[in-house]
Amino acid sequence: MNLPLITRAQSYSERTAIVTPQQRFSYQDLLDRSAQIATALLDGMADLAEQRVAFLLPSGFDYVATQWGIWRAGGIAVPLCTAHPRPELEYVITQSGASILVADDSLADRLLPIAEDHQQPFLLTSHISGAIAPLPMVAIDRRALILYTSGTTGKPKGVVITHANIQAQVTSLVTAWAWQPEDCILHLLPLHHIHGIINVLTCALWVGAECHMLPKFDAETVWRRISDRDLTLFMAVPTIYAKLIAAWSKASKQEQAVRSLGCRQMRLMVSGSAALPVQMLETWQQISGHVLLERYGMTEIGMALSNPLQGERLAGSVGQPLPGVAVRLVDESGALAAADSPGEIQVQGPGVFLEYWQNPEATAKAFCGPWFRTGDMAIAQQGTYRILGRMSVDIIKTGGYKVSALEIEEVLRSHPDIQDCAVVGVADEEWGERVCGALVVTGESGLTLTALRAWAKEQLATYKVPTKILILEQLPRNAMGKVIKPAIVDLFNGADS
Ligand code: AMP
Repeated sequence: MNLPLITRAQSYSERTAIVTPQQRFSYQDLLDRSAQIATALLDGMADLAEQRVAFLLPSGFDYVATQWGIWRAGGIAVPLCTAHPRPELEYVITQSGASILVADDSLADRLLPIAEDHQQPFLLTSHISGAIAPLPMVAIDRRALILYTSGTTGKPKGVVITHANIQAQVTSLVTAWAWQPEDCILHLLPLHHIHGIINVLTCALWVGAECHMLPKFDAETVWRRISDRDLTLFMAVPTIYAKLIAAWSKASKQEQAVRSLGCRQMRLMVSGSAALPVQMLETWQQISGHVLLERYGMTEIGMALSNPLQGERLAGSVGQPLPGVAVRLVDESGALAAADSPGEIQVQGPGVFLEYWQNPEATAKAFCGPWFRTGDMAIAQQGTYRILGRMSVDIIKTGGYKVSALEIEEVLRSHPDIQDCAVVGVADEEWGERVCGALVVTGESGLTLTALRAWAKEQLATYKVPTKILILEQLPRNAMGKVIKPAIVDLFNGADS
C-alpha cells in the first residue's frame, strides 16, 4: 500500500500545492521532486527501512519535497531547526542516529562540518536531479517523523510519530476545522515543530489546498500577504499575534483598514502552542473581526482540545476533545478528577505517538495504560477545558496552596504598565516555592513591588500575588515563541546571590 498522502496528491496533481514568494508549485511538481529526492536518498537501495534522515532547509518547496522524499524512500524524517546552533543540531543528529544529512545551499555550511566530523553522507538538494527509480510501498504503521521536544526539563526527547499517527491527527483537524480544497493558508511557523508540520502544512496538502510559505516570519510581510485578500485560513502562536498587533497599531489609519479587511476575508484564524492571553484575543477581535479559535495540543499527541468552528468560542478556554481524541483529567491519587476540580490531562487515541526514540524508560513513564500523561493541568467545566499550565513549571506550590502561573499571568497582564510577564515558582525554605513575576513594563513605568502587590491583591488571593519581581527587557523564548521558564527561575536565583 502506498501512503494515503501520496495517493491523494496524485488525484489532484494539477492543483497548486505550494506557493513561495518566487514561484507556484503544483501537486505534480511536488510528486516529481519528492520522487527525485527519494531516489537520491535510496542510492540504489530498495527501501530506507526507517533509516533516519536529518534535514536542514528553510521553509519552502524543497523543504516539503525533502520531507515527502524521505517518506517515499521509507525513511524517518528528522527536521532540524534552522535557528539552532551547532551543539543542538549535533544533539538531534546523533540522538536520532541519522545516517544521511540533507541541506539546502543556503544552510549547507551549518551541516557540512557536522557531516564531515561524523563521516555521514551529506546531500545538497541543489545537486539532486535526474531519473526516478521505483519507490518502495510504505505501510502506514511505519515510523514517519522524529520531532524533538522543547526539553524544558532535561535533554530533548525524540517523539516518534508514525504515518498512521499523522493521518489520525490530520483527519481530526480536517473534520473539526472543515478544511476544503479551496482553502489557502499562509505558512509562517517553524518547520521542526508539530504546529507548522501537521496543523498547517500536512492538513493543507491532505485536502489539496494551497500552502503559501514564507521563508521566515516578518510582521510587515505577513500583513502584506493578509492584505492581498486571497487567504482563507491563518494559524499562529500568541507571540506572533502580539507582533502582528504591534505592527498593525503602528500603521496609518488607511493601512489599518486594508489589513483588517484582509483578515475579514478569511474563514478561520487559530491560536495555539501556548496560552492565548484574553486581552490579546480581545484586541485581535477588534482588529480582525475574528474571535481566535484557541486549541491545545502537544508534540506527543497532536491536537487534543479545540474551541468549536461553529458556536461560541470561550476566552481563556481550549474547548472540547477533537474528533477521535479521548481526554480525561486525573487527580494526584490517580483517580478521575471530580467535576470542576483540576487534574492532569491524559489523552488516548490513534494520533498519540508511538514512543520516545530509544528511550523505553521515558516512554513507559509517560503512559498510564493506554493513556498518555501530558504533564499539563486543566479544569473542565461543562465539558470545556481550561489549561492551568505545565505541572513541572506552571503549578506553583506555595505555603500549602497550589496556584496556576497562567491564571496569575492573565491578571498581571491587565495592569496598564505591564506589557508581558511570566510567573514562576522559585524554591524557598519558608514557602516551598515563592510566586515570582518576571515583567516587561512600558518605557516610562516606575512599577515597584509594593505598588504591584497592592494592585494585585485587589484581583487575586494574597498567596497568589508575586512576592518578588524582576523587570526584563524581554522574556527568554524558544524558536516557537514559548517562554523558557527554567531560564527565568535561574534569573531569580541569580538575582538572590
Ligand atoms: P509542544 O509539544 O512544543 O507543542 O508543547 C506542548 C505544550 O504547549 C503543552 O504541553 C502545553 O503545556 C502548551 N500548550 C499548547 N497549547 C496550549 C494552549 N492553548 N494553552 C496553554 N498551553 C498550551
